[in-house]
Amino acid sequence: MGGATGGVPGSGEPHPLSQFVLKINGRCDLSCDHCYVYEHADQSWRTKPRTMAPAVLRAAAGRIAEHAHAWSLPRVRVVLHGGEPLLVGAARMDEILTDLRAQVEPVTRLDLIMQTNGVRLAPPMCDVLKRHGVRVGVSLDGDRAANDLHRRFANGAGSYDQVRAALALLRTPDYRELYAGLLCTVDVRNDPLRVYAALLAERPPEVDFLLPHATWDEPPLRPAGDFTPYASWLSVIHQRWLADKRPMRIRLFDGLHSTADGGPSGSEQLGADVVDMAVIETDGRYEQADSIKIAYDGAPATGLSVLTHSVDDLSRLAPIAARLAGVEALSAVCRSCPVVDQCRGGLYAHRFRTTGTGSGFDNPSVYCADLRVLVEQSNEESKMHFADTEPDALGSIVAEIGSGFGAESTIGWLADQQPAITRALLFAVIDQHGSNAAWDALAAVESVDAGAVQRVLAHPYARAWAVDQLRPGAVGGGLSYLGGLAAAAAVHAGVAVEVDVEIDRGVVALPTAGTVYWPSPVTGPARLKVEQDQLWIIGPDRTLSVNLARPEATAWWQPARWVDLGGWGIRLEDGDPARDCHRWTPAGRLDAGAERAWRDALTEAWRVIVTDLPAYAPGLRAGLRAVVPLERDPAGAQRASTARDAFGSVAAALTDPGDLAVLLVHEFQHGKLGALLDLCDLFDGDSDARIMVGWKPEPRPVEAALQGVYAHAAVADAWRLRADQDPRGPELYAKYLGWTTGAIAALRGTEALTPLGVDFVDRLAATVEGWGS
Ligand code: SF4
Repeated sequence: MGGATGGVPGSGEPHPLSQFVLKINGRCDLSCDHCYVYEHADQSWRTKPRTMAPAVLRAAAGRIAEHAHAWSLPRVRVVLHGGEPLLVGAARMDEILTDLRAQVEPVTRLDLIMQTNGVRLAPPMCDVLKRHGVRVGVSLDGDRAANDLHRRFANGAGSYDQVRAALALLRTPDYRELYAGLLCTVDVRNDPLRVYAALLAERPPEVDFLLPHATWDEPPLRPAGDFTPYASWLSVIHQRWLADKRPMRIRLFDGLHSTADGGPSGSEQLGADVVDMAVIETDGRYEQADSIKIAYDGAPATGLSVLTHSVDDLSRLAPIAARLAGVEALSAVCRSCPVVDQCRGGLYAHRFRTTGTGSGFDNPSVYCADLRVLVEQSNEESKMHFADTEPDALGSIVAEIGSGFGAESTIGWLADQQPAITRALLFAVIDQHGSNAAWDALAAVESVDAGAVQRVLAHPYARAWAVDQLRPGAVGGGLSYLGGLAAAAAVHAGVAVEVDVEIDRGVVALPTAGTVYWPSPVTGPARLKVEQDQLWIIGPDRTLSVNLARPEATAWWQPARWVDLGGWGIRLEDGDPARDCHRWTPAGRLDAGAERAWRDALTEAWRVIVTDLPAYAPGLRAGLRAVVPLERDPAGAQRASTARDAFGSVAAALTDPGDLAVLLVHEFQHGKLGALLDLCDLFDGDSDARIMVGWKPEPRPVEAALQGVYAHAAVADAWRLRADQDPRGPELYAKYLGWTTGAIAALRGTEALTPLGVDFVDRLAATVEGWGS
């Protein structure tokens, strides 16, 4: 049988291996029917210990350290795996990680990852993982229906709620640095766009799609008449992901794009990279990759153990060495395939066949047809997309924004990423509530006028509302807000819809369209009905109607107010309850005098920006959509704020137009940087570095220091440029310049910045140096 290996080390040359999958626990608390450990041909788990004994763990750590030392490896990756690794409990996990690090870290850099179903993830375990710098990947197959199709407990109950709770925990500020990403096993019976939206809603740094395990003996599910259903399914997501401007990394697609340019795949599913990996089972035996378990009973066995053999011994075995070889080790069919440089035969395990020509692994993948189509379609889709829409490579965008500014097209591109993020977050909220009536209404509008839905998804506070709803312990509010968004989209599209909403202390918001002010400050259910040019609000004690064709405000209807700034406009946002996410209380409905004062102040502030601070004007024009009036400070202090999840909006108390201009520039810098951080890492999320800054007495986390320095650089620049017009200018310039240069130096002194982050800070430093002293 192909792939079987004896218990004697091969006679070949040893090779360096840098990845080790450590089976610290051999059992699982889920009974997923697509699991390769328990549900496929290899049943060796039945004879192995439940957990890895301390002596075996120490032997494994010693073998890894010995190997890393012998080959002078700069780093090794250890993946804590199972079964389910969380079942060892926090105390034992602490011991395991302490032992591992004690032996390996003196020799090389240790990169620790855990792959888990997430069901038992809780703060005590997260504290241990955080202390030891472990990053956590969680398995999730999409929305509730998709996930619970396979990922179930032994009693048949789905695991979706537990996994979502684990992901919510990983998104909290305390544990966000642990969050490595999601692993999704494809099932073509699931709606690909719902799966995509559900995954995106979890805001993962990265997603990987796994083709379900199959061999030529046990081919994958293929609906009748569809020869490449996996390519079709993935292609739907690929196109949406490109259209959404790639809001998260998807390893399979990134791998396809990279290999199209001759780069590495970064994915075992596309065989372009060598697989220098070993598995260490709970009993200490070395095995080949887990996925080979699907081939036949005993398929991954090597006959070697950490108790008796070195990693060098393992690496000499023919099957291990074969995984390190290139195209020449593939089947004859693959070697002559036009896409072999990108596919490389797919996942090794998927090549297995028991009998006939090419028995063993000397075959193309059982997914060959899908892989071929997927590679070719992906190349074509990417070519068309990047030719049409991509403004520049991400590195260029980072450099441009890092300079402190950003062209209108670049900031517009950043703004264009936001609706996809908002859409995913809204989907997560709906999924959490188990109801989709408002979502369906939004979808009905979208089927007629996609632009109308895009307009409400671009509303800054739609995302802020969704994030608030998804917070652990968030207090209700139901889907009323979503009903308001659907009604607003229907108003924009001129489409008839009816949605349920809640009157909240006399207010119902239709964000971007207007606000209903009920004649009394009641709270209670209502229904919004949009029909032609009419909006009906059917409330607890009466029915109101609004003629949408007439733009005037009435006592109970305030259409969205725009301040025209000459070719573009800012919305005065005084009705949306979700705007109450800033540090200070938002002002209520503006009366005519207050509205006029804001129009005048914003018009004059924009004139100041265009005249005195023109380099910031294109970015503001492309990205600033709303200003939220705040209550004034009783003592007359300035107030202004940006919310991390409300890109495109600035909250401020009314002030002198010159100061308002500087506040808008200052706050929008935070928004720009936040939107950039949605797309790329400028600093190492694992770092616990703290940066001394001039504007706070205590050292700040890296992200806070980056945000501060980026905004303060712009304020320094503003006072430098306005020094002639304001007597405070020179003094304020000196203050903000000192804070900026100090923080730049401190950031450069850490090792916490990624290469992109270093470039970002260098660009900012170059701008500041250009001002002279
Ligand atoms: S597409 Fe098929 S033949 Fe081509 S490399 Fe992949 S598995 Fe081999």
